[in-house]
Amino acid sequence: MNYFWLDKHIDQWNAAIGHDHKPQAVIVNGADGMGKAELLNQIIADLVCRQVSVGHCGKCQNCTLYKQGYHPDVHNVEPEKNVVKVNMIRKLTEFFTSTPHCSDYKIAVINQADCMNVAAANALLKVLEEPPARGILFLSTNSKHQLMPTIKSRCVSLDVVLNVGDKIKLNEWLKSELMNQPGQENAEKLSVQDALTLSDFQPISTLKLLQENQMIDFKTQLDYLYEFFNQDTSVSVAAKQIIENQGNNNWALLQRYFLQLLKSIFNQKQHEIYATHPLNKLIKKSPKVIHIIIKMTELVQQLMLNLNNQIKDQLLLESMLVEIKNQFNQRS
Ligand SMILES: [Zn+2]
Repeated sequence: MNYFWLDKHIDQWNAAIGHDHKPQAVIVNGADGMGKAELLNQIIADLVCRQVSVGHCGKCQNCTLYKQGYHPDVHNVEPEKNVVKVNMIRKLTEFFTSTPHCSDYKIAVINQADCMNVAAANALLKVLEEPPARGILFLSTNSKHQLMPTIKSRCVSLDVVLNVGDKIKLNEWLKSELMNQPGQENAEKLSVQDALTLSDFQPISTLKLLQENQMIDFKTQLDYLYEFFNQDTSVSVAAKQIIENQGNNNWALLQRYFLQLLKSIFNQKQHEIYATHPLNKLIKKSPKVIHIIIKMTELVQQLMLNLNNQIKDQLLLESMLVEIKNQFNQRS
């Protein structure tokens, strides 16, 4: 596996199941961009293969079926419009009633398990209360705290995290990943540290930020904000530019940017994203600096809640940008 920080979790898993005592329900918890799906993929591939005792052979019938996504002993539950519904859990219960076809276990994965509605969670609880003898259930989630306590107490947890050593290796890993891609020869010129901070040190999200030029789009957002606050761009033009340049997760990036800027004011050792960007300096030299940053964070939060309603976004941006710009001209 290419995601080196998952190796320790594979070891952890192998140690836990070393005595042929497999847990019946496992919560795989971790932020998006940490590689939960890849970790599960490897764990399940190892479980279905009967040819080798550690890892998987990659050649047998079980391995082939699983690789092709047709393994009869593996069942995936995917939420529909961000809801895991009770009928999906009923299908899962049914799946568990039969014995394994060709591997040793019946394995099910509930993706975004925190999206189970109450009926689904209650149905799942029944499965956990009387777990199938050869069944293993994985609950994948980025917010374990949202699962019902009665569900959590019946599962073991595998928390996908970066330890100190992983964080040190991350820079090199990102650079080598980028180098291997055509057109990314200038990887070292991109600010890896900025991307790491913007994506909260989630390795796969950071890599995506760097690969898909999202860092450049994001910097353009900062340029637009700077031009509006510092120059004579009209508010409707500025708001329009910002919305049109809004990529998949620019609002979330902006939110992290402002939070990080705030942190860097209180603690000089904090990494400052795009430290040389004139917007940073402009905001920091204002006597109302804290107020401005808090207002910007509020604005971004509201935009994220608006769920891409373009007209609402435009109006909200315009009114708040004007309000914030006024702060720049005020003395404390
Ligand atoms: Zn195999």
